[in-house]
Amino acid sequence: MKNIAVLGSTGSIGVQTLDVIEHSKNMRVTALTANKNTAKLEDQIRRFSPDIAVLYDSEAARDLKTRVADTKTRVLSGEEGLCDAAAYEKNDTVVEAVSGSVGIKPAIAAIRKNVRLALANKEAMVCAGDIINEKVQKEGAEIVPIDSEHSAVFQCLQNNRDRLKKIILTASGGPFFGKTKAELSAITPAEALRHPNWDMGAKITIDCATLVNKGLELIEAIRLFGVSANQIEVLVHRQSIIHSMVEFVDNSVIAQIGMPDMRIPISYALTYPDRTENPSSSIDFTKLAPLTFEKPDMKTFYGLQLAFDAINAGGTMPTAYNGANEAAVDLFLKEKITFLQIPELIEYAMHKHKVVLNPDLESIINTDTEARQSVYERI
Ligand code: NDP
Ligand code: MG
Repeated sequence: MKNIAVLGSTGSIGVQTLDVIEHSKNMRVTALTANKNTAKLEDQIRRFSPDIAVLYDSEAARDLKTRVADTKTRVLSGEEGLCDAAAYEKNDTVVEAVSGSVGIKPAIAAIRKNVRLALANKEAMVCAGDIINEKVQKEGAEIVPIDSEHSAVFQCLQNNRDRLKKIILTASGGPFFGKTKAELSAITPAEALRHPNWDMGAKITIDCATLVNKGLELIEAIRLFGVSANQIEVLVHRQSIIHSMVEFVDNSVIAQIGMPDMRIPISYALTYPDRTENPSSSIDFTKLAPLTFEKPDMKTFYGLQLAFDAINAGGTMPTAYNGANEAAVDLFLKEKITFLQIPELIEYAMHKHKVVLNPDLESIINTDTEARQSVYERI
């Protein structure tokens, strides 16, 4: 039996992870965590009988404790609870699928000897990638990515990492591919939440519409695979069938292909280096639309360009990029700012930020807070 903790179990990745676990006969859930979705977490506790359940929100956690008093599950709350679930001694694998930079500390807590961090949360790697990598090395832990592009690169690289020439990160282009700035000015949250290929949480769906998601993934790839920004090419591939590719020094390219179903990379992260059946469906090549590739429009969707700027500035600048984006997306979803203000506010916060090189965790957390404050001040 493989013992698995699922952080962010009530979200899009969390639910799909539980689907994969339920399908498998040799995986057991040790811990489940969420923010405040009491009803869904209660349902998951009854289905999976974890030892620990955590709600970040303390009031919701109190309510959950009463609701599941008849079970053996221990209910915890807050950041401390999340970190306790991540560092629980019975875990073999920790699936980190909370959304946002709140995932930094649990990711670090999870990295213990012989623990696998199956990482969906990209914000932790963007903000604190160097610290996480250092701890992984020190503790002998391992990271297997869940983000589909990074899972693709991970699968394509295998034993040829030192012969890698470049990574080709594919992007769906989001729902507004081909639109001009004028056309984007009146986009509503409801329109931006309609992604053509993937069904995901609200925050990442907006990030896909602005192309900031690809910016975060660019930084995530740099941290995960130890490449430089100029070794990464972003290509818009509308069909989301090729999940990313690697080109080696001999100009041979290897791509990972599959239906746009996150249960494939989730399953791989749980079973690597093995593979097992999972609830996803097989690809029918005869039914596919022609596969196309285009350069992204980084002038209109300059949230992606800002990620290149952030990585070039180095130090805490990617953290500022991420923190400002999280605040701006939240404001957009609450209809407090327009769609085009999202990159404007990120740019403003980055402009204001004074980079700290080789930051420790405290500088990273401070940068995250400051970048959010810069956004709130500006509106
Ligand atoms: P969702 O918004 O669907 O789910 C987020 C999960 O995190 C929920 O369980 C939520 O709990 C929990 N959560 C949110 N805020 C907090 C908090 N402050 N403290 C503790 N828990 C919290 O997100 P997704 O599943 O779509 O994405 C999760 C991560 O995976 C993101 O980093 C995203 O970028 C990444 N990812 C997602 C993909 C996808 O297909 N969805 C693809 C690739 C990467 P509650 O339900 O109570 O709010
Ligand atoms: Mg992705």
